[in-house]
Amino acid sequence: MHALIVGAGVAGLTAALQLRRAGWNVTIMERQPAIPSGGYMVDFFGPGYDVAERLGLLPELEKIHYPIGHLQFVDGRSHVDADLPYPKIRHLVFRDRHLNFMRGDLVRVLSQQIGGDVDLRFGTWPIALYPVGVYADGEPLTVEASRGPSVSCDLLIGADGAHSAVRDLAFLGGETSIVRLGCHTAAYVIDKPIPGLAEDAFVSMSARDISAAAYPIREGRTATLFLHRAPAAPRARSPEECRQELESVYRGEGWILDRLLDAFPDDGDVFFDDVVQIELLRWSDGPVVLLGDAAWCVSLLAGQGASLAMYGGYVLAQELSRSGGDVRDALVRYEARLRPLVARRQRAGRRARSWFLPKTRWGRRMRDRFTDFVVKTPAAGVVGRFMGGARAPLD
Ligand SMILES: Cc1cc2nc3c(=O)[nH]c(=O)nc-3n(C[C@H](O)[C@H](O)[C@H](O)COP(=O)(O)OP(=O)(O)OC[C@H]3O[C@@H](n4cnc5c(N)ncnc54)[C@H](O)[C@@H]3O)c2cc1C
Repeated sequence: MHALIVGAGVAGLTAALQLRRAGWNVTIMERQPAIPSGGYMVDFFGPGYDVAERLGLLPELEKIHYPIGHLQFVDGRSHVDADLPYPKIRHLVFRDRHLNFMRGDLVRVLSQQIGGDVDLRFGTWPIALYPVGVYADGEPLTVEASRGPSVSCDLLIGADGAHSAVRDLAFLGGETSIVRLGCHTAAYVIDKPIPGLAEDAFVSMSARDISAAAYPIREGRTATLFLHRAPAAPRARSPEECRQELESVYRGEGWILDRLLDAFPDDGDVFFDDVVQIELLRWSDGPVVLLGDAAWCVSLLAGQGASLAMYGGYVLAQELSRSGGDVRDALVRYEARLRPLVARRQRAGRRARSWFLPKTRWGRRMRDRFTDFVVKTPAAGVVGRFMGGARAPLD
């Protein structure tokens, strides 16, 4: 059996790893020219962590983990509202089953596990799919590529993120609901330390309708993350659009924001997007299936997109390997296993907007003091389960 996976992200690479182990031939098309180096910091816990443990990836993930000393919440005058010891949170809330690392590092670890076993084509994306919509049993799909030969396959997996091209090509997009959560996000890595930032702290600043975070990472670099309310989707997701918007929203708002803006990367290596959730009536049609953000993006507000992407890739490959060649039956069982988990995370993500972006100074203070109080008490374990740290079945 031959699977074509579009997207060498967390979901696509996890599925590729497991399908190879189950004896499938796998081709991957990835739009980017290479595995990315940075991106943004990802909190990693819950079902994805369990999968990583099952796959024997934890030692490699520990190597890319950032053992932060403190989580600090500050206001525009750099006044510290809450200072939380990360090791204690990790222990009390996540029972030490929590990692944080750059998304690019996670993708690199996964691609190293795959090694040369998979035909991984960079700088390539699908441009057409035959047939579409009416699939005869056993008839292969042909996917035309932007570069290089077409690929004939028994299964097409769209793991190409929230703006999935596979979703559109297979007309699964006709039933897509893209739910805006009313904010934009941006992230970039600065090639130097930024004065005013503690060495071992993840510092998060918020003011009315805006939130920004910065934290030192290896090789003397600084990672940033921005989140702010925005009434409409961005006109474009280009670096220049990102720069202009960050300038107009954050410049002069205090803390070290101006220094972070001054260091906006010249090479345009930035992430900038609307914050959305994807809701689909179904995740597959015949031998075409969507996976990860392409199928169910929960958004960064839900906090577990990478974890769910890894869990989803694992479950999809597991069901396929158990199906004895009945791909459609496997896709039904994959969706049935994932749906309830995804629905819970999407609900949590929608509720979380006012948590990330409190409207008033009072709201912000209450959030920070409440967090400060709760994570230091036995209630922390309950918070962990609420955040999705509860187990999801691996078999
Ligand atoms: C700022 C930010 C912070 C986040 N923080 C967290 C967090 O703390 N914890 C957490 O668990 N999750 C977090 N997430 C969510 C998480 O990053 C995603 O849910 C996760 O990466 C989804 O994985 P994926 O493989 O489905 O998609 P993606 O990671 O988006 O990967 C999709 C891949 O497909 C490729 N691609 C796209 N289009 C095409 C095409 N047409 N052809 C070929 N290839 C294509 C892309 O280049 C990419 O490599 C965060 C997200 C953002 C934006």
